[in-house]
Amino acid sequence: MKKNIVGMLPEDLVPWLGREGEPSYRARQILRWVYEKKVSSFRDMSDIPLGLREKLSASFVLGTTRIAEVQTSSDGTKKFLLVFPQGDSVEVVAIPQRSWYTVCLSTQVGCPVRCPFCATGRAGFRRPLAADEIVEEAWRVSQNERARITHLVFMGMGEPLLNYGELTRALRVFNSSEGLGIGSRRITVSTVGVPEKILQLARDWPEVNLALSLHAPSDDLRNFLVPLNRTYPLKEVLAAVREYLRLTRRRVTIEYTLWQGLNDGEVHALQLSRLLRGLLVHVNLIPGNRIKGTPFVPSPPERVVAFAALLQKHGIPVTLRRSRGQDIRAACGELYRIHGLRGEVADDYCPEKRCNAAGN
Ligand code: SF4
Repeated sequence: MKKNIVGMLPEDLVPWLGREGEPSYRARQILRWVYEKKVSSFRDMSDIPLGLREKLSASFVLGTTRIAEVQTSSDGTKKFLLVFPQGDSVEVVAIPQRSWYTVCLSTQVGCPVRCPFCATGRAGFRRPLAADEIVEEAWRVSQNERARITHLVFMGMGEPLLNYGELTRALRVFNSSEGLGIGSRRITVSTVGVPEKILQLARDWPEVNLALSLHAPSDDLRNFLVPLNRTYPLKEVLAAVREYLRLTRRRVTIEYTLWQGLNDGEVHALQLSRLLRGLLVHVNLIPGNRIKGTPFVPSPPERVVAFAALLQKHGIPVTLRRSRGQDIRAACGELYRIHGLRGEVADDYCPEKRCNAAGN
C-alpha cells in the first residue's frame, strides 16, 4: 500500500531515499513541493529528476482525501466535508479574517465523549485520526483555497487529548519550518479536560494555547453536559489547569456555552467565578443554538450579558463570542452528521459554536 507523503518530514523521507539510492537532500526539495506549493501530482515537481518522480509515484500518494462538500457562509467562513478512502469523513472549517487564516481541525471521526448538545457527540464515535490524516485536513483546505494558514484550532470533531500521540505527531509537522510552518503560539488545542494529557501538553508543547470547554460550574451539571466529567471531575481538571499555568505561564481560555435555565443562572455565574478566581484564564461565553428534539434552549441575549457582567464584577475576564458561519451552521459535527445519517437530521443543528474561536 502506498504511503501518504502529506504528514511526512524530511527525516521520515530520508530512509526511503537511501534505499532508492537517492541523495538525502532531495527530501527537503520534495517536501517543499508538498507543503509550500501544495502540488497535486508528483509530475509537477519540476526540479526533481523524472526517474525520482516516477519512484515517488510508485511508493507514495499525495494526499488521500477528497472534498465532498463545501458550504460557504456570507461572512466568508467555509465548511468542508473531507472524505477518507475508507468512506468515513470529518469536517474542517476555514475562517478567513483580515490578515489571518484560521482552520479548525478534527482529531477523531465522531467523538467518544458524547456531549448531549453536540452534533458530533450525538452521532457517536468511529475512530481516531492518524497524524497524516490530521495534517491533511489543513493541507487539503490550504491547497483548495490557495490560502496560507496562519492559525490552527483543534476545536472540530473529537476530543484531541484522547488522541494525544497522533495529535502531537501532527503538531510536529504543522510547527516545523519544513512542514506547514505554523508557530506554536498560533495553535490552540481545545479539550473538555483530560488531566494527565493537559500536563503532558504543557511539557511537550508549552507554547501551544490551551482552551478548556467547561460549560458547567459544578460536577452534577457537568456530568450531564460533558460526560467525561464522570471520569475526570472538575477538581482534577482544574488542578491540571493550575499545574499547566505554573509550567507554561500562558493564559488558558475557558469555553462556556450558555443554555437557558440550565447553566446560565446567577448562581452558575457565581459558582464559575469562584471556581476560576485567581487563575490566569479568560472566559469565552458562547450563546447556544436551538436544537430540535432536545431540551436545550439558547440563553436570551439579556441573560448572556447579565452572566458576563456577573463574571466581570467578580474579576473574571470575559468575552462574548462573535458567531461566525451561522448561516452554514459552522458548529462541529453538523455536516458530518447530516451526511453520516443520510439526511435524517438535516433540520437539526449543533449548539456549540466551538469553531468560532478564530484568533485564539
Ligand atoms: S463537544 Fe467536543 S468533546 Fe463533546 S461530544 Fe462534541 S466534539 Fe466531543
